[in-house]
Amino acid sequence: MNMLDIIAKKREAGALTREQIEWFVDAVAKETVPDYQIAALLMAIVIQGMNHEETVALTLAMAHSGQILDLTDDIGYAVDKHSSGGVGDKTTLVVLPLVAACGVKVAKMSGRGLGLTGGTLDKLEAIHGFNVNLSESEFRRIARESGLVLAGQSGDLAPADGKLYALRDVTGTVQSIPLIVGSIMSKKIAAGAKGIVLDVKMGSGAFMKTLEDAQTLARTMVEIGTMAGRDMVATVSDMNQPLGAMVGHALEIRETIETLLGGGPADFRDHCMSIAAHMLWLAGQGKRWTDEAATLAELQAVLNSGAAFRKFREMVRVQGGDVAMVDDPSKLPTARIIEVISATQAGYVASVSAEGIARAAFALGAGRVKKGEPIDFAVGVQVHVKVGQAIKVGQPLLSLYANDTDKLSAGMAEAAQAVTFSATPVPQLPHTYDTIKARAKA
Ligand code: URA
Repeated sequence: MNMLDIIAKKREAGALTREQIEWFVDAVAKETVPDYQIAALLMAIVIQGMNHEETVALTLAMAHSGQILDLTDDIGYAVDKHSSGGVGDKTTLVVLPLVAACGVKVAKMSGRGLGLTGGTLDKLEAIHGFNVNLSESEFRRIARESGLVLAGQSGDLAPADGKLYALRDVTGTVQSIPLIVGSIMSKKIAAGAKGIVLDVKMGSGAFMKTLEDAQTLARTMVEIGTMAGRDMVATVSDMNQPLGAMVGHALEIRETIETLLGGGPADFRDHCMSIAAHMLWLAGQGKRWTDEAATLAELQAVLNSGAAFRKFREMVRVQGGDVAMVDDPSKLPTARIIEVISATQAGYVASVSAEGIARAAFALGAGRVKKGEPIDFAVGVQVHVKVGQAIKVGQPLLSLYANDTDKLSAGMAEAAQAVTFSATPVPQLPHTYDTIKARAKA
């Protein structure tokens, strides 16, 4: 078998065989094919797609490209969550401590930024000293002892995804249902999750721009997950406007802390509560947390008690982070320049483009253009308005946090188009469009 034949077959819209897919994934994991050939095949897949059998073969080959973790001895039934990638999506940072504070042990592997969307690991590294590079034994020990651990994907778990993910980020090959399914589900299967909540984002700031594509992605992942013996919940949630107010690493950590202390933007808080409720539903396995309203009330009580914040603080301490930054978020990296964009007309907010805001944050230095590039933790955008909100002239719409005047100009150019107005009232955007729940088949 050789890479050129596989690339050519996909370029001509052929269906790859399971053997070809397994050969390719193995070669990626063993680094026996060069990046340019991998990138060529990825682009062919983006353009020509993959059928269901190819997608299943890709996912399972990626999951088995390394070790498959079993966390049962450490935390029992492992429940995990994964977002398909959004703007201002800091949900994991709130939901994990919240679920852990309810007594469910969680051990999660997260990713770095992908395309215009931010990554949880990058956000955590805004906290000085926070160590996301844990060995397997450290990961297991912290999971057992603290009941909460959040780290990067270890090299032994779905190593093919580690390579493909970094390459897709810088070759314009993220937007593809089979590649996203393979990436997300291989990691979840390899990381030992028994119950998985998928937060599939839909809208201008998501990889899935239409409800139809988001539902296809959600359904495909649920099907592959149940086939692989996992209990699944997939929810399709809005990403036409950023989630919460903050977009940018340190800014999102600030919003996380505010939310864990019972404040934070209402849309973000509600979203965290609903994802946490799905995780508890899975963890309860039909015995506990079966009534959603009661679960939401319990989550609210846990948040109000400060237990979720204390759990987050403990995680930061245990993983080597500077807790002084959690106790006093003004100690987090801060930008030198803050530029506010205000409304020049009155009316109603018709749109706050999540993509436009992400482009602005990227231009300010929050994202990577090349593999492994450093990012600026301090920069980003604060979104002061939501779709449907009534606006007066002079009211702040966006604040741009920058460290460099040239980057600020580039960010301003992107941000200037991000908010649009209507003279007549505009309905608020829905929070969730669809939820699918399914128990394991195997
Ligand atoms: N999240 C992932 O882990 N992979 C993708 O491809 C997209 C979102």
